[in-house]
Amino acid sequence: MATSVVLFTRVLRLHDHPALATAARRSEHVVPLFVVDPAIVEGPFGSPNRVAFLRDCLEELGAELRRRGGDLVLRQGDPVDQAVRLAVEVGADSIHYSTDVGRYAERRQQRLTMAATAAGVAAIGHPGIAVVEAGALRPSGGGDHFKVFTPYFRVWSRAMRRPVAAAPRAVSLPEQIDVGPGLDRVLPTPAHTSPQRPLGGEQRGRRQLERWADEHLARYEDIHDDLAGDRTSKLSPYLHFGCLSALDLCTRLAGRPGSEAFIRQLCWRDFHHQVTATFPDIARRDYRSRHDVWDDDDEAIAAWKDGRTGYPIVDAGMRQLRLEGWMHNRARMITASFLVKDLGVDWRIGADHFLAWLTDGDIAQNSANWQWTAGTGNDTRPNRVFNPLRQAERFDPRGDYVRRYVPELASLSGSEVHQPWRVPGPRRPADYPAPIVDHDQAAAAFLARRAGQQQLAL
Ligand SMILES: Cc1cc2nc3c(=O)[nH]c(=O)nc-3n(C[C@H](O)[C@H](O)[C@H](O)COP(=O)(O)OP(=O)(O)OC[C@H]3O[C@@H](n4cnc5c(N)ncnc54)[C@H](O)[C@@H]3O)c2cc1C
Repeated sequence: MATSVVLFTRVLRLHDHPALATAARRSEHVVPLFVVDPAIVEGPFGSPNRVAFLRDCLEELGAELRRRGGDLVLRQGDPVDQAVRLAVEVGADSIHYSTDVGRYAERRQQRLTMAATAAGVAAIGHPGIAVVEAGALRPSGGGDHFKVFTPYFRVWSRAMRRPVAAAPRAVSLPEQIDVGPGLDRVLPTPAHTSPQRPLGGEQRGRRQLERWADEHLARYEDIHDDLAGDRTSKLSPYLHFGCLSALDLCTRLAGRPGSEAFIRQLCWRDFHHQVTATFPDIARRDYRSRHDVWDDDDEAIAAWKDGRTGYPIVDAGMRQLRLEGWMHNRARMITASFLVKDLGVDWRIGADHFLAWLTDGDIAQNSANWQWTAGTGNDTRPNRVFNPLRQAERFDPRGDYVRRYVPELASLSGSEVHQPWRVPGPRRPADYPAPIVDHDQAAAAFLARRAGQQQLAL
């Protein structure tokens, strides 16, 4: 029987791993391989929080493979070169990988196919990242992807799903294979991670899922926007790194009270995934240009990044991001809208900052959500502006979210914390900044500028 290499990129689990399951079924020997790619761990995409989470995942993956008689082979360098070289060394006839989207992944897959073919090895892509693979669903009116969420959700909900793949019981490596120098050598623990970052790994992801679903799934629809309650699943890093399978999640949770609203959120993930598959430059190019002219004011950008804009709800979100390497979805929308529509800053600057800190930082999800907020993406209301005060009153009515992350304001009670500039004299916290812009004026100026630019472009 044959030998196969399984190139792990970001489906870092054993259960429901079609590439691994197929290789294990058809081959006597399976070589699970992870290549630490400097372009990913050191480049602009190399956030310390994600590198640390990745390390956690690889540690656990290696241990689980050893329990099954195999191991995780580690290499460093270009994944394509390393995978093909290893395949030739061990006499493998195929390299299996999980198909991904985005410009970098797409090029890697193309190069892998070419290099493997030249070496007489088959490169075979498998599903595993999305619930429904990108490209599997096409709009009835034509086009290569869905541009609007609601019709996609309708079709997605009824789409055929592949069966969930079982984890292989045993993994057998070829004899005398060099498993590599060990994780500490190829991927040292990064410095400067968020103090309260989530920890990675398939088992941790599963425990988080079970705990959260038992406690909160039933009320997800009602509670998911409550900033202070903080009761969303926090599964996003586990989904980004593929510690959990989105398909498995849908299958396990379907039919349970609350699952419909939650599964709809997983559909958003697939929706952005299929947009990115056909628009792989989503991280850099406007999906729909509004001809914006940005006002990239360095001081304002620094205030936003540091959580010192003078708008407590914005500052709380930005500080949560640094402290936890994660931010509540509602806060992501508020902070992103503030950067783009109040400060007039290019959405790419905000998206890059998020990617530097988010443990779940994901090209498709981050870029598509930023573009949605900026009005250059798939939003049907491109000129929507989030009013930070109204958002605060609605989603943090007692002010507890702000007090949790902005300690300078801890002495203010209830919702007065949202407008510290209104607090009379001596009670007003001295070490908290005044608002750097007037929301109403700034948003009106942005929309007027956008309208003007659109007129010019006609
Ligand atoms: C500006 C901005 C940037 C974002 N960047 C990312 C990112 O880099 N990576 C990322 O995974 N999500 C991103 N999101 C989407 C969303 O904020 C997170 O998925 C969510 O906050 C994760 O928390 P959770 O797991 O508790 O979510 P839950 O509310 O428990 O939702 C369950 C899962 O559904 C998916 N999901 C929920 N909301 C969205 C959404 N709007 N778009 C796509 N998938 C969604 C996620 O996989 C999430 O884990 C971004 C949103 C905004 C507004």
